[in-house]
Amino acid sequence: MSEYQVIVVGGGAAGMMAAGQAAKGGARVLLLEKKERLGRKIAISGKGRCNITNEENVSDFINHYPGNGRFLHGILRDFDNIALRDFLADYGVETKVERGGRVFPVSDDAEKVVEALEAFLADKGVVIRSGMAVDEIMIENGHVIGVRGTGQKQYLAPVVIVCTGGSSYPATGSNGDGFRLAKKLGHRVITPRPALVPLKASEEWVKELQGLALRNVEASLWISGKKQSTEFGEMLFTHFGVSGPIVLTISRQAGDALREGQKVELHINLKPALSAEQLDARVQRDFQKYSNKQFKNALDDLLPQSLIPVMIRLCGINPDGVVHQISREERKRLVGLLHGLPITITGTLSIETAIVTAGGVDVKEINPKTMASKCVEGLYWAGEVVDVDGITGGYNLQAAFAMGFRAGRAAGKGTLS
Ligand SMILES: Cc1cc2nc3c(=O)[nH]c(=O)nc-3n(C[C@H](O)[C@H](O)[C@H](O)COP(=O)(O)OP(=O)(O)OC[C@H]3O[C@@H](n4cnc5c(N)ncnc54)[C@H](O)[C@@H]3O)c2cc1C
Repeated sequence: MSEYQVIVVGGGAAGMMAAGQAAKGGARVLLLEKKERLGRKIAISGKGRCNITNEENVSDFINHYPGNGRFLHGILRDFDNIALRDFLADYGVETKVERGGRVFPVSDDAEKVVEALEAFLADKGVVIRSGMAVDEIMIENGHVIGVRGTGQKQYLAPVVIVCTGGSSYPATGSNGDGFRLAKKLGHRVITPRPALVPLKASEEWVKELQGLALRNVEASLWISGKKQSTEFGEMLFTHFGVSGPIVLTISRQAGDALREGQKVELHINLKPALSAEQLDARVQRDFQKYSNKQFKNALDDLLPQSLIPVMIRLCGINPDGVVHQISREERKRLVGLLHGLPITITGTLSIETAIVTAGGVDVKEINPKTMASKCVEGLYWAGEVVDVDGITGGYNLQAAFAMGFRAGRAAGKGTLS
């Protein structure tokens, strides 16, 4: 008989949850983690504060996963945002809700979440080997028999749950190992690609604006001349292009379109609360107020300082001309730009810099009721290694925890029968 009944590969959100749940169900569980410490990605999540989940009603949750939300339907119901918050509270992490329903630990300290999960593992008697990278899942007659890791070390068990994460932020340990393991085992892997990633732009003026953050703006994604989606919120100009929450949300679709060779633009609406007529009236009021000033000195009420010279260049109105001489056409041009400042998107930053990896083990080859592989007996998948990805707001951690919960429960039960 093997020393262990379940081996979990990867000690991130999904792996720690899966290992603890399997052990809670009565299995002897070994957790193997490549890094010296568990949960390194959790520790940097939410800028070190860890946006654990979202307060939203769980029935609306799946709409926030552009990558296979429907696969998560029952999984999220089984271990929802309330269950996750209760679980953390049991291990001493009280949570609070912030803007947009985002849930954080009251301590604003992501390490406290890792500590809670470690306490859970200790409580349930999970054996942990850190500094152990698994490079092979061993199979005999189509059934898992164990894993081989660093230094050819073998660990035997009839059940293995792979929770190795995606390819993003490899310094945290998730460098795509799971995708390589999956392919070797005959699983189909949907091409991993960056999601929630900053976008590169071609315009020089975009780079000139680096450091400028815009709040309460709307970014619309245009693909080959057609508007696809619009996001409202905050964005940031950088030395390579654009970033910030609304850009990250749009980035997945933008990246996919670019890979298909389509033309991708963002149109920034700087005044989304005003209709075209209202904005025109507002600009006319400003122009009346500053009617004897030069145009370059008439935009202070309308735009952030660093945006003014850029806007002046783009709208083609003489900056030294007197405001009352500006023609109707010129004013309309300015209004048009304020409502749709076009930025040409040329690429995404690399997958290593993405918050999440889209793609991964094909969900068609995983039983959503158990997270068991349909290709190999005794094999389970959970977390970002699976082809599931969500937008920002706590959705990715919630998905990882919920998949880990289900895989751990099912795998633990399987060993008892
Ligand atoms: C900067 C940043 C901020 C984020 N902020 C948030 C946020 O606030 N809210 C949110 O919901 N999501 C956030 N995310 C996304 C979220 O953190 C991940 O989706 C989630 O952690 C995935 O969990 P996981 O367990 O599947 O993978 P991971 O957390 O990546 O864990 C995988 C583990 O497997 C280990 N491993 C890999 N290969 C092997 C191997 N061969 N052998 C042994 N071990 C291995 C790794 O070392 C790692 O510990 C953020 C991501 C990043 C990069």
